[in-house]
Amino acid sequence: MALIVHKYGGTSMGSTERIKNVAKRVAKWHDAGHQIVVVPSAMSGETNRIIGLAKEISAQPDPRELDMIASTGEQVSVGLLAIALQAIGKQAVSYAGWQVAIKTDSAHTKARIASIDEAKVKADLDAGKIVIITGFQGVDELGNITTLGRGGSDTSAVAVAAALKAQECLIYTDVDGVYTTDPRVVSDARRLNTVTFEEMLEMASLGSKVLQIRSVEFAGNYRMPTRVLSSLTDPLIPLEEEANSGTLISFEEDTHMEQATITGIAFNRDEAKITVLGVPDRPGIAYQILGPVADANIEVDMIIQNQSVEGKTDFTFTVPRGEYAKAMDVLETSVKAHIGAGSIVGDSKVSKVSVVGVGMRSHVGIASQMFRTLSEEGINIQMISTSEIKISVLIDEKYMELAVRSLHKAFGLENA
Ligand code: ASP
Ligand code: MG
Repeated sequence: MALIVHKYGGTSMGSTERIKNVAKRVAKWHDAGHQIVVVPSAMSGETNRIIGLAKEISAQPDPRELDMIASTGEQVSVGLLAIALQAIGKQAVSYAGWQVAIKTDSAHTKARIASIDEAKVKADLDAGKIVIITGFQGVDELGNITTLGRGGSDTSAVAVAAALKAQECLIYTDVDGVYTTDPRVVSDARRLNTVTFEEMLEMASLGSKVLQIRSVEFAGNYRMPTRVLSSLTDPLIPLEEEANSGTLISFEEDTHMEQATITGIAFNRDEAKITVLGVPDRPGIAYQILGPVADANIEVDMIIQNQSVEGKTDFTFTVPRGEYAKAMDVLETSVKAHIGAGSIVGDSKVSKVSVVGVGMRSHVGIASQMFRTLSEEGINIQMISTSEIKISVLIDEKYMELAVRSLHKAFGLENA
């Protein structure tokens, strides 16, 4: 017997028919002798619909009230799932975040979980009940309902699993796992049986949107084995088969299999590059350029500063494309004259492509293989950045898909 947390996404909860299927699947696990906690999302489209109502009334609704509204989608789905389980003879009880309680800070619409009381849930499980807890929402110290940011039910599920010291957190979704790259770009992308949480973090932050990033951070911090698997299979397939399907996010030490050098190719289409030309080379310059950008809440990613020639240098960095205009504006108005820079130029049609893999730690020559592959395709590299398990290049967006396909092939990631 094990304690296992199941998380079902909006598509899986998308209709009463589908909720009945979820109930069958959950009952199958419970029948096998496991203690089950379920954390569902709102029915698909519901969160957008109710947030939309608020925006019909005000362009900038009060975040506290927005959370009051946005959190209700999950409250409907937990109740429906409890009813569906009871209808097939299971004891089930649903809870809103505040009833558990899942305590968060007060950052409405993007709250962080601070603690979870597990006593009540444990007691219900020991009494033979299936416990269903709303994803996405929590409660702050003053009793206000909070939400964890869009896609936040993933994080709720992993956090609940960690608090309960569950054996595994199963994230049921409408894809059947994590792939070496986006199968819409590379048709023979392969599903990974395992991926380390560090690799997953890189892949998620680079735009493979299978899981909310914060849930992966949670899984890493609490060492919670987390599996992404399909909710679209027949709910009554053998449990053994289901339990080993999908992609397990694991920890490097646990992965004894032969490790490929590269695990996946991640990409982000929507980047923009900004260069401040003719910057005086003196202490404090990077801070004077990037400080105002950070104050405007713009996230900076890759950064290059060249060796100076005659006391002047160029300073280049990237920002999300959606923040490009704002960043240019900040630089023109509060940086350029202030630091005595020459001019500011930019390009909002660039993309980032990265090779990711913990295998890089023990293999040399990955960077040169990557650069050779791109050069053979005639793709110009504009910026490079590296970490221990990732090499990223910034290129013209026109060549992004070509770069992803040729790297996927060069590193032998395709389906055997
Ligand atoms: N219902 C919320 C959303 O759509 C949370 C989730 O589905 O994970 O963002
Ligand atoms: Mg999701």
